[in-house]
Amino acid sequence: MARRRVIGIDAGGTKLLGGVVDGDLMVEHRVHRLWRGEDRREVIDVMADAAGEARAGASDVAAVGFGIPAQVDFARGVALASNHLPLNGVAFREVMAERLGLPVAVDNDANAALLGEMRHGAARGSSEVALLTLGTGVGGALALGGSIYRGRDGIGVELGHIPIDLDGPPCPGRCDGRGCLEALVAGPAIAARGEREAREDSSSALAAELAEGRAITGAHVTELAHDGDQAAMRAITETGRLLGIGLVAIVNLFAPQVIVMGGGAMRGGDLLLDPAREVVAERALEPARDEVRVVAAELAEEAGMIGAAELARDLEASK
Ligand SMILES: [Zn+2]
Repeated sequence: MARRRVIGIDAGGTKLLGGVVDGDLMVEHRVHRLWRGEDRREVIDVMADAAGEARAGASDVAAVGFGIPAQVDFARGVALASNHLPLNGVAFREVMAERLGLPVAVDNDANAALLGEMRHGAARGSSEVALLTLGTGVGGALALGGSIYRGRDGIGVELGHIPIDLDGPPCPGRCDGRGCLEALVAGPAIAARGEREAREDSSSALAAELAEGRAITGAHVTELAHDGDQAAMRAITETGRLLGIGLVAIVNLFAPQVIVMGGGAMRGGDLLLDPAREVVAERALEPARDEVRVVAAELAEEAGMIGAAELARDLEASK
């Protein structure tokens, strides 16, 4: 029997990507949304509207899966707390099922991306896997013994909040920490580092853009680093080394076979990952450091959407 189509929605801190996914992973009726993410009603409306738009283009959708940037009680479908969206305490599955008139599954966005990568991407065949998504924030997910490990009731595995620097910058959002991985390697941190480097090197392309009054973003720094701008390259290399320190913690704790790196900052590619791999090779414990592969997500920026669709498919299969 042909597998029915499902909708996968990957909702990040500032944007949403979704689509109708068929049994062969073909994605149709893609939807994109941007939001400020400050108002609960707006965020829920935008997500429901995006799912509705995708569904309007397809006739036989069986279920909808959401990956959201929140700690999620997976069994109950409740968003417990979110560092980036005002979803604390929302009975997400129930609310969305009612709005859409379809079965709904919801999980943390990084868990969804990990599910996608384990079934169809860079972590196929691995049982111990960590995944980090570098975007507006840093999401993290972990698979142990081949299953996604969600921590107690979904409140654990915040790999983005591994502390790296005692006196580091305050962690953004609703985290009270300082110098967390997220505070040091997410998009805003890359932008800030780029700006610092630009101020110290007035001959750089980055400094020229700063002088023109343009706001520097993480994506911008990454782009200039690929163009060979020295200040931008230093900012990306430094980010990669700090990322590497976070990866050392993950390798020493869990000895994963593979660490999958996703999110917008992965446009930095090996410029970002090579310094991180070097730090892992130098500082993590043997033999785990020799066995771990640090790789980019194969499904790239679609990992979360594909994984969210897999959540919906599991729901359909369990009926
Ligand atoms: Zn934090």
